[in-house]
Amino acid sequence: MRILTLLATLAFSAPAIAGPNDIVRPYPAQQVSAGTYVIHGPQGVPSVDNQSFMNNPAWIITTEGVVVIDPGSSVQAGRMVVAQLRKTTNKPVTHVFNTHVHGDHWLGNHAILDVWPKATIIGHPDMIQQAKDGAGAFWLKLMSDMTGGYTAGTRAKIPTVAATDGQEFRIGGKTFRIHSSTDAHSKTDLMIEIVEDRILFTGDNVLNSQVMNLRDGTFKGILKATELALSLNARLYIPGHGKSDDRKFVEAHKAWFDILLAEVRRMYDEGMSDFEMKPVLVEKLKAYKDWEEWDVNLGPQISLAILEVEQE
Ligand SMILES: [Zn+2]
Repeated sequence: MRILTLLATLAFSAPAIAGPNDIVRPYPAQQVSAGTYVIHGPQGVPSVDNQSFMNNPAWIITTEGVVVIDPGSSVQAGRMVVAQLRKTTNKPVTHVFNTHVHGDHWLGNHAILDVWPKATIIGHPDMIQQAKDGAGAFWLKLMSDMTGGYTAGTRAKIPTVAATDGQEFRIGGKTFRIHSSTDAHSKTDLMIEIVEDRILFTGDNVLNSQVMNLRDGTFKGILKATELALSLNARLYIPGHGKSDDRKFVEAHKAWFDILLAEVRRMYDEGMSDFEMKPVLVEKLKAYKDWEEWDVNLGPQISLAILEVEQE
């Protein structure tokens, strides 16, 4: 009889039991400001080792409910975010902001909607369009391929509310002000300012100690967004990847792009090719040689900068 009860209990609870592929290994949430938490994910590209998880999911607890920003790269990563979020509050998630179309930031929406189906998901209008036009499917496949199929079962839950530049969302006593652009990191980027707390979520327009993959963006747009971020004079900057901190890392991020662009311009005018430019830039940028993704992204950034300088 006891065995039967046990079996019945297991049968009923089976869908809630997480198997090895159902949730990524936990990462701690850090309280970075009163009621604001960030899980600083590992830096790098999706892999079997990181189980796809490599961004900075965050949540803000308001008087009405919880606002999530970028719940991760897969339903499995999103479930981990939900589990950590629930250790900090019993309130429901009412809103989710997605900073841009890259799947490491938003495919975790699936896990949020599984638990809070009425949550409103907000993104850049061009992100919504691109996700519908194939970027959703592209990122689902990329995540699965790069993790050896770990993210299987994830579905692309695309935002249903488009945010415009300057728009303010008043949620539970806080003002979430949108700073959007169409030519920065992914051309679908939102930065989100919590006005009362002087916190800026930069998305991937600003990274901390990481060389950016800029294949979907422009140098001009990144510099404009970074200058805007600095002009907002936030107390705390929360980047898409890397640690949250004060404005110093934002200034370093700007310095990298200022140096790279000025040097590429100068050498382009001298008729140098990209492979001749690289050793010069390795020297000029040596203060940043410990940044993540240096080996992967410095070369492509030089090629992309040449293409952009050619258009000037
Ligand atoms: Zn990105």
